[in-house]
Amino acid sequence: MTLKNKVAIVTGSARGIGFAIAKRFVEEGSKVIMSDVDDDAGQAAQEELAALGEVTYIHCNVAERLDVRNLIAGTLNAYGDIDILVNNAGIVAGGDFLDLDIDDFDRVLNVNLRGTFLCSQAVARHLVEKVENGGEPGTIINLSSINSVLTIPGQLPYCVSKGGVAQLTRTAAVALAPYGIRVNAIGPGSIMTDMLSAVNSDPAARARVLSRTPMGRVGEPSEIAGIAVFLASSDSSYVTGQTIFADGGRLP
Ligand code: NAD
Repeated sequence: MTLKNKVAIVTGSARGIGFAIAKRFVEEGSKVIMSDVDDDAGQAAQEELAALGEVTYIHCNVAERLDVRNLIAGTLNAYGDIDILVNNAGIVAGGDFLDLDIDDFDRVLNVNLRGTFLCSQAVARHLVEKVENGGEPGTIINLSSINSVLTIPGQLPYCVSKGGVAQLTRTAAVALAPYGIRVNAIGPGSIMTDMLSAVNSDPAARARVLSRTPMGRVGEPSEIAGIAVFLASSDSSYVTGQTIFADGGRLP
């Protein structure tokens, strides 16, 4: 599948990895729905990419059922179809295990795992209906993390949520495979975005990250976007249920 004229939703795309993925999709000729909870940043991002092609912005908190419903309805209203969903929206919050606040646990799980499930299920229902009516199957791409299989002490909710995303990816892939709908994940290591701001502003934390990254540098959002393009295209037509890690060779 070439990505030209495909309709792609990217959640949490006001900045960072989501923005880089939205940009690559627009450059590939897709019609892109950008979406975020930060509407000012989201609208500014949409305006920036609108110079390159067809881009619409729709507000969506992925953890809210009604917002997800509006995102799907708004996309179908604008473009009449959905081919690609990138579940990118994600947050971090943590603390030492013994002191961990249950509200932080819930907040992270709500966005990273519940949000990924809500968007996936809503889009999958559309994709299955499309296949049953003779249309082409679409694809779902989830942002997992190297911390779905490794771990960071002090970031239990995040690591648990991304482990859940990996398992959601495999389970949804098996459920949707008979329709030809593929579900895969990307597992980044440390990527230079706002999410990494604590690391960027603390030389000791930065040194720690680099010491366990054999490539000796953090990644760029564009290095994740290229994997999303591969997973969305027919070049990956027999790949489903997988997580592709991009982590500079990250050591445990
Ligand atoms: P980021 O913080 O730069 O951007 C995340 C975006 O998601 C923001 O625009 C934010 O407003 C939005 N968002 C937050 N909560 C939301 C919600 N409830 N609904 C919709 N949007 C919401 O983060 P990033 O580094 O670009 O991360 C993107 C994805 O990649 C996340 O899922 C993250 O866990 C994953 N990831 C990032 C790294 C990294 O090192 N940056 C590593 C591994 C995985």
